[in-house]
Amino acid sequence: MLHPDAIPPKTRRHLSFDPLIRQIRLRAKLFPDTRDESNCGYSMADAVMSAMAVFALKDPSLLFFQQRRNDENLKSLFRILNVPSDTQMRAILDPLEPDLIRPLFNDVFRQLQRGKALEPYTFHEGCYLVSMDGTGYFSSKKIHCESCLQKKNSKTGEITYHHQMLGAAVVHPDHKQVIPLAPEPIIKQDGDNKNDCERNAGKRLLRKIRDEHPNLKLIVVEDGLASNAPHIRQLKSLDMRFLLGAKPDDHEHLFEEVSKAEAEGRATTLRWTVEAKEAVQCEIRFAHDLPLNKSNADLLVNFLQYTEYASDGSIRKRFSWVTDLTITRDNARHLVLGGRARWKIENETFNTLKNQGYHLEHNFGHGEQNLSVIFAMLMMLAFLVDQTQELCCPLFQAVHKKLVSRRSLWDHLRSHFRHCRCDSMQHLHEAILYDLAKEMPIPTFASRRRARVP
Ligand SMILES: [Zn+2]
Repeated sequence: MLHPDAIPPKTRRHLSFDPLIRQIRLRAKLFPDTRDESNCGYSMADAVMSAMAVFALKDPSLLFFQQRRNDENLKSLFRILNVPSDTQMRAILDPLEPDLIRPLFNDVFRQLQRGKALEPYTFHEGCYLVSMDGTGYFSSKKIHCESCLQKKNSKTGEITYHHQMLGAAVVHPDHKQVIPLAPEPIIKQDGDNKNDCERNAGKRLLRKIRDEHPNLKLIVVEDGLASNAPHIRQLKSLDMRFLLGAKPDDHEHLFEEVSKAEAEGRATTLRWTVEAKEAVQCEIRFAHDLPLNKSNADLLVNFLQYTEYASDGSIRKRFSWVTDLTITRDNARHLVLGGRARWKIENETFNTLKNQGYHLEHNFGHGEQNLSVIFAMLMMLAFLVDQTQELCCPLFQAVHKKLVSRRSLWDHLRSHFRHCRCDSMQHLHEAILYDLAKEMPIPTFASRRRARVP
């Protein structure tokens, strides 16, 4: 029984589900709709919010959405006026330009800034770490669209169609939650090989991030693919700092220069021991103003390397980076943590979307133009809303704590959505937190029949 004095944790103004959904709908209402008017029974905004409902409730397929099409909760929680069928939703969203989805992310980001929720993510000299990486989310030998990437089997000539996107998220080594920015689709026109494709999408994404956040101070963290001269020059031109993986195989000249700097006393080495089960020797080496490679001798970078040695002297782990940040004895360990936070785009973002209930790799519908891309972007947006709640909404945090795992949280969300009539997500969260559904008097079938007899 709910204690009469129980007061549910407050939701934070603007930074909980209901106001964020309201804001997303307002923006979606502004999307251009080029459809023939006779064909407009369902608005673009209703189609966008229907997809948001699928991803917020973590439906494993659109069949689940179709089954709850007449559920009043869809209208009240997701502000849908007329719920389209899954087929109509796909048809309306297919021609939508993916770039139109970007402002939806930026609106949530601004609310996080306004609510001071980003402050704990400041990492170094007022800058945020932005981790960027690509991931695949669709592959098929049959289904394809205009923007599918293609892979041809060299022996059989068989073509595999696939989709990838470049994700970016504000991360911090001390915080589990990540704040995804709008991803950039990697599309067919981007180039002939994997590296070309990812690089071209990277160029577009960086320009867009700078246009959308002109004053944001950023340190971009990426893997070894990114530590090439054209990319670093673009980062500099956009006034972004960088901390990029560097491998000896790709940067033979640079690593020779590091050894030379060390021999000439221009490098610094720090050593310390971590007392664990087995004592671990840790070492950081850094040096400044080294040429990135022979053909770009004018492009100088700073070099940072972290190594862990086992007690027998063998290398357990080694990571190296190039950066334009000034490395000191005091900040070197901190910067290593920043470089290693790059993994959060894989572990806390892509892996969560693939393995923790979001079904990123499920084909919700491919379309002929942009549908596959639009669905992936809206799923990332639903993830941003969830991360914002995890970070800023005490009511959501209390529900999450009670149910322990994300999976259990999504299960409860779906079952309450199905069985309780709620007028907001706050209401639904309160129902889960206090087991309100169990307090509902459910009439027996016989009593209902008696009540109907005059
Ligand atoms: Zn496609």
